[in-house]
Amino acid sequence: MQRFDDFDKLEVLTRITGSLVNKGPLRVGVGREPPLGAATDIAPLRIRFADGRLVPYIPGSSLKGVLRSLAESILRARGVYVHDPWSFEAVEEERRSGRFCLICGTFGSTGIASHVRVYDAYPDGEAPTFTKTGVGINRDFRGVQPGILYTEEQVAPGVRWGFMMDIVNIRVFPEPGDERGRLLRQLLQLLASGMVQVGARRTVGYGLVKLEQGRYEVYEVKEGLLVKATEGGIA
Ligand SMILES: [Zn+2]
Repeated sequence: MQRFDDFDKLEVLTRITGSLVNKGPLRVGVGREPPLGAATDIAPLRIRFADGRLVPYIPGSSLKGVLRSLAESILRARGVYVHDPWSFEAVEEERRSGRFCLICGTFGSTGIASHVRVYDAYPDGEAPTFTKTGVGINRDFRGVQPGILYTEEQVAPGVRWGFMMDIVNIRVFPEPGDERGRLLRQLLQLLASGMVQVGARRTVGYGLVKLEQGRYEVYEVKEGLLVKATEGGIA
């Protein structure tokens, strides 16, 4: 089995850039990240810019969590066993033996650093929001429960978010170097084809995102310097 704890030496760095466009509304979150392994949501949070504006943004850790969950589903669909990210025993055994699974060998665990970094995504221009008021449903009587209302702030569909992701020591483009490279490539292609729907309430189109103008740049270390080896588009 291949060793994935190869952080002592930078060999190849792949930078992915593009715009993430939300095709459905995105619920604005309240500042708490979903725990590792939970049904991942990409609820944007808000950050205050120097000029005082409060701007929604999608935390990179949240986008990374979405990619990790998607990678786990792809592997499970292929019949590959994927351990629970919360499994202390599985993570500890990988750390002890130095043999990491494809998921931890890509996205990291408490026993190994991540080969993938996703940056916070800020809106390109305005990110209009609206407030939706819902009515609580009484589960026992399957009807409207009078008096139970909730409100949610949401980012309108069609906002472009700047997407940037770095992949260290895994070859993904122009040809994948291993199984992790093939998995990452498949994730990016799913994102680019607008097939990725994440978070709660998928039935109403929430959390559907598409990567547009996706590009990769591959850097390699040559004589101690990081030089661009190749670049191209993701379609
Ligand atoms: Zn693992």
